[in-house]
Amino acid sequence: MGWLHEIPDPEIPVISIVELGVIRDLHFNDTTLEVTITPTYSGCPAMKQMEDDVIKKLHEKGFDKVKINTVYDPAWTTDWLNEAARLKLQNYGIAPPEGTKDKSALLGEPKSVTCPRCKSKQSEMVSQFGSTACKALYKCKDCLEVFDYFKCI
Ligand SMILES: [Zn+2]
Repeated sequence: MGWLHEIPDPEIPVISIVELGVIRDLHFNDTTLEVTITPTYSGCPAMKQMEDDVIKKLHEKGFDKVKINTVYDPAWTTDWLNEAARLKLQNYGIAPPEGTKDKSALLGEPKSVTCPRCKSKQSEMVSQFGSTACKALYKCKDCLEVFDYFKCI
């Protein structure tokens, strides 16, 4: 599992796919190493790259037979992002998800999220969609930074 920590999320290179929580399980089925992956956002184009990266990395480490099992249930949620991953996101300039997916499903995206640059809580949403569909765009009212917010799902 340690090697998989070396594989970055294709969209957010500072966090690994392990920290992202997409690797659910690893086990041997006879001589084949089976890796269970839960995609983050369905249809996220990065998933194919993540799968290719996992296979490539494991091949490099001497595992010839690798099979990827994609599991959609239970669905990936930002609730699986650990504290380290949230902190890295913030340092990278992306506001980490605030609250839980249940709350955001009921209430929508927060009116204001913490600015990753100056940590001000005074910000406003500029657009429902940021650099990718998984993010929204916010603007800080204090330092005027425009930043991506990783939506809760
Ligand atoms: Zn700010």
